Amino acid sequence: MIHPSLPSSSSSSFLDKVRARLAGGHFRMINEKLYTCTGKEALDYFNEDPELFNMYHTGYQEQMSHWPEQPVNTIIKWLKDRSSSLIVADFGCGDARLAKNVKNKVFSFDLVSNDPSVIACDMSNVPLDSSSVDVAVFCLSLMGTNYASYLQEAYKVLNPSGWLLIAEVKSRFDPKNGGADPNQFTRAVCEMGFTSELKDFSNKMFVLLYFKKKKSSEGREIEWPSSSLVQTPLTFTNYKF
Ligand code: SAH
Repeated sequence: MIHPSLPSSSSSSFLDKVRARLAGGHFRMINEKLYTCTGKEALDYFNEDPELFNMYHTGYQEQMSHWPEQPVNTIIKWLKDRSSSLIVADFGCGDARLAKNVKNKVFSFDLVSNDPSVIACDMSNVPLDSSSVDVAVFCLSLMGTNYASYLQEAYKVLNPSGWLLIAEVKSRFDPKNGGADPNQFTRAVCEMGFTSELKDFSNKMFVLLYFKKKKSSEGREIEWPSSSLVQTPLTFTNYKF
């Protein structure tokens, strides 16, 4: 029974709005959690209550629907412009939209699998052989406090000259507002054994940082800069939805 003081003519749209608000609140809470814990903790968190993962993704899709352009589509286009024989690993794939929209063989990883094509795991340890993929994608997914270990894992599974494609929310790379210094971040990634191929800040919402694994360098553990992404969670606060 709907409370009499609620608008009667458009009660279903009113309820939709209430639901959307609640979903937004849940999304922000879970989002905050994912940025302030390790991948292992995030895995335990979702394993305890897989419904939280669905809530997160309902809210995520709602937020993304307001972005004029979604980075995953930019990456899909990038892949379509290249050979479909490139093997791809999508780290933090969400609903596996990437895999569903390209001809390439894509290994899709996320903490929870809601689709048979998604492999559930913590992406600091993916079930792939060393030097077995050509493209590693992190599309808005460098979330855990141990995100450097995700990049290390990508380095391991990439073939020499393989691509590392990172899309991140722009505010995370805005040093004037508490974000990371993109140059410092890029240098740190290069020290792992990559070369920087593209820094694209042209989109209002997200940045694209593309790297290539060096042909013959030895990847190594590095000291991450203090103003790293760890302190700058993707909060979506810069954007009004
Ligand atoms: N790449 C997708 C989804 C981005 S949302 C897209 O662009 O649409 C970020 C995703 O990263 C979430 O689904 C979250 O569960 C996943 N993620 C975060 N940390 C992870 C980890 N340690 N291992 C696997 N997936 C992770």
